[in-house]
Amino acid sequence: MIDPKEYLEAGQKFHGHKCPAMPMGLRVGAAAMNRLGVERSPDGQLVALVELGEDHCATCFGDGIQMITGCTFGKGNIKKLNYGKWGVTLVDRASGRAVRVVPKTEAMLANKQTEFFQKYREKGIPASQVPVTVVEPLIEKVMKAPEQILLTVSKPFEYPLPKKVESFAGFVCDHCGEMTVEGYGRPLGDRKVCLPCYEKATGQR
Ligand SMILES: [Zn+2]
Ligand SMILES: [Zn+2]
Repeated sequence: MIDPKEYLEAGQKFHGHKCPAMPMGLRVGAAAMNRLGVERSPDGQLVALVELGEDHCATCFGDGIQMITGCTFGKGNIKKLNYGKWGVTLVDRASGRAVRVVPKTEAMLANKQTEFFQKYREKGIPASQVPVTVVEPLIEKVMKAPEQILLTVSKPFEYPLPKKVESFAGFVCDHCGEMTVEGYGRPLGDRKVCLPCYEKATGQR
């Protein structure tokens, strides 16, 4: 069993400020992992499909997911689906099983009714400038709420993923001289170039 409390401090350090959305990500990730019975992903064992979009409130949620599941941008085992929602499907590659966890609508709506959002965030004040006395109770609420009040956790379902093949092959771009991954090159006359150089030369991708 993974305990989200053990990842709160490190999560806040990684994330950069204190807010309730990152901890919500911790709770959602932990619930998914515990339902699947899996450990934090040291390599690419788990894959997280997050329904977040861009430029909306509480995308901080994604950092909580990265922190607790080990599905990270760097390892490439987290994917944004751009639905503008907070559901997460966590896939365990080994068993080909997944669960979807989503914060309950009531919990999300209650969050919006707080001083943190109404007096600060919605007025454009960055989370790092919200007084600790305002944000701490919210964090505590998210961290302490019983799972059945906070989250909807699906039953595990089949979700087989194709085996991931990592490329170790590379080439040196004939134009800029920078190292580029093999499959990302483009032929340009008798030369082989990287994508930005190709775009610059041809105006197309
Ligand atoms: Zn945040
Ligand atoms: Zn280049």
